[in-house]
Amino acid sequence: MPIVRVDPAYTSQRCTACGHIDKRNRTSQAEFVCRDCGFTAEHADILGADNIALRAPATWAQSTAPSAA
Ligand SMILES: [Zn+2]
Repeated sequence: MPIVRVDPAYTSQRCTACGHIDKRNRTSQAEFVCRDCGFTAEHADILGADNIALRAPATWAQSTAPSAA
């Protein structure tokens, strides 16, 4: 299992339903309401973990792509 670094900056602000990222999505430490589609989640930290899991494959592809240096 490869170890992949994922930037956690927006994971708790990203809607798992539509992908919309907005800091206002996070109405409180524990609540999430998407400003775009209205998706709600009560445990924003779990949402963040889901987003990290979803993003890992894309991040892995990026990290293994040849760099354009
Ligand atoms: Zn949404």
